[in-house]
Amino acid sequence: MGELLKKIKGNTYYIKGPVNTGLYVYSQNRCVVIDTGSSDDWGRKILKALKAEGLEAELIINTHSHADHFGGNSFLVKRTNAEVAASGIEAAIISNPYLEPFYLYSAHPPKALQNKFLMGKECRVDRILEPGTFPVGPAKLQIVDLKGHSPGQIGVATPDGVLMTADAYFSTHIVEKYKLPYFTNIADTLDTLKGLKGTDYSFYLPCHGDLSSNIEGEIDSNLKAISEAMGTIRWALIKPLTREELGAAITEKYGLDLNTTQYYLNQSSIAAYLSYMTDQRMLQRRIEGYRMVWEVV
Ligand SMILES: [Zn+2]
Repeated sequence: MGELLKKIKGNTYYIKGPVNTGLYVYSQNRCVVIDTGSSDDWGRKILKALKAEGLEAELIINTHSHADHFGGNSFLVKRTNAEVAASGIEAAIISNPYLEPFYLYSAHPPKALQNKFLMGKECRVDRILEPGTFPVGPAKLQIVDLKGHSPGQIGVATPDGVLMTADAYFSTHIVEKYKLPYFTNIADTLDTLKGLKGTDYSFYLPCHGDLSSNIEGEIDSNLKAISEAMGTIRWALIKPLTREELGAAITEKYGLDLNTTQYYLNQSSIAAYLSYMTDQRMLQRRIEGYRMVWEVV
């Protein structure tokens, strides 16, 4: 295989980048592409890699609907006959990318939030995926439920024992640097991380980070980050704070940089903890002085 395409095992390959693209070749020249990067440029790079090997993309699977995972879809779909597949809730956003800044902002977002990091190029989704066996040509992929980072996130396991893990976990150095990895449902994330720990694939390919044959250390780093974030929230909510005030306290404590996009992503991360910790009866909320405040129970 050429320089762009790196072999993982058997018929499973990937293209390394800021967002790794997975590839499974299931017949002489047909393949499935898993995630397409953030833009037309990445779509062009994927097409170049396929052409160099005489491969044709018959199907694109998007693991979830964040803009950096389906941004190359539109270019690839125009240039090939590939169909696009994603889980139901993620398909709704891939085909209506406005929904991502809309949900982050909770109303029509200002133009600053309708940016390339939060809004991929709209793309039709042809097939809705459910966890379980998914045949491609003579081969069978396994669609694995990895929800938590995104509500319908899926992983793809190939017959070579390679699991594409999407953004189910982040590399230890990323977690240690940013402290607050982006998870939108903490209960689901914990189930997903613990579930992954019990698996025994030959290789794991995260979208951001390195191919690995053992992810226990990475999973532990993510579990530790979640536990530490909850500890920090409990520390901050000794006195009642609004979500905004809590965000400021955490941002200051962790020394995080903020721009408009990062601010809304942080608010979303914190909202996920507030839901989870309230449902677990660690926190309570009330309206006080016309503000919604949260505090430890
Ligand atoms: Zn993501």
